[in-house]
Amino acid sequence: MIEIKNYINGELLKSSNKNNLDIFNPSIGKIYAQCPNSSEKDLETAITSSEKAFLKWSRLKQIDRSQFLLKIASLIECNLDEFAKAESMDNGKPLKLSQSLDIPRSIKNLKFFATIANDLETESFTQRKVKSHILRQPLGIVGTISPWNLPLYLFTWKIAPALVVGNCVIAKPSEITPYSAYLFSKICIEANLPKGVLNVLHGSGKVIGRKIVNHKKIKAISFTGGTDTGKEIAKKASNHLKKISLEMGGKNPVIIFDDCNYNQMINSLIKSSFLNQGQICLSGSRIYIQETIYNKFKKDFIAKTKKLRIGDPFNKNTDQGAIVSEEHLNKILNYIKYAKEEGGKIILGGNIPKVDSKLSSGWYFTPTVIENLSQKSKLNKEEIFGPVVTLNKFKDSEDAIKMANDNDYGLASIIWTDDPNKANKLAERLESGLVWINCWLERDLRTPFGGIKNSGYGKEGGKYAIDFFTESKNICIKYYD
Ligand code: NAD
Repeated sequence: MIEIKNYINGELLKSSNKNNLDIFNPSIGKIYAQCPNSSEKDLETAITSSEKAFLKWSRLKQIDRSQFLLKIASLIECNLDEFAKAESMDNGKPLKLSQSLDIPRSIKNLKFFATIANDLETESFTQRKVKSHILRQPLGIVGTISPWNLPLYLFTWKIAPALVVGNCVIAKPSEITPYSAYLFSKICIEANLPKGVLNVLHGSGKVIGRKIVNHKKIKAISFTGGTDTGKEIAKKASNHLKKISLEMGGKNPVIIFDDCNYNQMINSLIKSSFLNQGQICLSGSRIYIQETIYNKFKKDFIAKTKKLRIGDPFNKNTDQGAIVSEEHLNKILNYIKYAKEEGGKIILGGNIPKVDSKLSSGWYFTPTVIENLSQKSKLNKEEIFGPVVTLNKFKDSEDAIKMANDNDYGLASIIWTDDPNKANKLAERLESGLVWINCWLERDLRTPFGGIKNSGYGKEGGKYAIDFFTESKNICIKYYD
């Protein structure tokens, strides 16, 4: 049994209340670790250490702070396999995905923010003899709260910009997947990160997550997770007029025109539908197909989906690993029930697959394709966050845009067409923070990332993250003759 510990004031510690949570390996449905369910006392210790650390850390040269991030990045790089195995055991995702996406992207996040911060220009304005110089200063202690679907990837995406500009961070990873953040804490010790600059508190969102949000010494909360949690955080944070950034759920439309590059589209669509078992906020779960190619598309998409191999995340041939938890699997199963009640036709999957006997207590779900549902159906409205997509027909651009925008979420949209004019016009009208044309999951870390409507409030990425984690001060000076 692995014992995961908090990282407080530069040390690995058990929770002061000795209260632990069971951590499961979803591929076999068994407990493999225990992690602290941190208490208020743990948070107070972390805050005290961060207050002290901030005095020095915020005054270090930017380039010196960057060096720490680069050191941590290179230590993770040296231990990539250990991190990837930890992520797959904790989350159930195929090891090849942790090795090719989760951990490399975590390293990239650290390197990217370590370098971008040094390149940012400062602003100044001159009016006759008056010069205003805009100084960007860290906020102080900030809180980051991250989800289970891309554990280290989103953990580093938040802490890197926060730290590089001089904040101290209290980070809370998901209690469902705490392992890679624990390994990260060990790496911080190895990199000699000064005590208290980063504190990692594990535990339940409803306990320690809420306490972090409510703590008056924490100046900002950067959150990624579900929309209901985000709304609660927005309400609570307003009591202290805390800065908040909320990256939340999605129900992303994919619009496929008959003039698209068909082979590229089908290959990409398999990923945008089912990568990470569909547990990516950016997955395209509502697929709109121009009616002229609907039947051919359906046949080809089903044939390709059937080829996905479900099973042991540690087998290199596996495409679909386990669903993260039993609770989440039950949520997906409930949506299958709704689909049937709403008259949907399940044309593929909808069931728990047969897997190797050594995995029989694990949590698996077959990639599922459903058609015949109305736009009002729960399956077309709500985020399932699993390997389930709906197929819907459209006639023309107007029809497609109406259906795509008929949703409370607005994270990402995907368009497939070889007509750039049509694609651009559509992209302008789509209600989402991000539009991919003829691609999916292409990310330039300098661009703004975040949703609109129920998907987000605030933007992450590049200078947008730096803006969030700093306060700008105008220093205005007048020169006399
Ligand atoms: P969640 O909201 O249940 O939990 C996210 C984090 O918030 C966890 O660390 C959890 O412990 C914490 N938390 C829970 N309740 C809290 C509370 N009351 N106060 C403070 N913290 C609390 O979400 P999840 O199930 O871990 O993640 C899945 C969701 O995340 C999906 O909706 C998905 O779309 C979303 N997501 C969004 C993005 C994005 O960039 N927009 C990226 C990944 C995941």
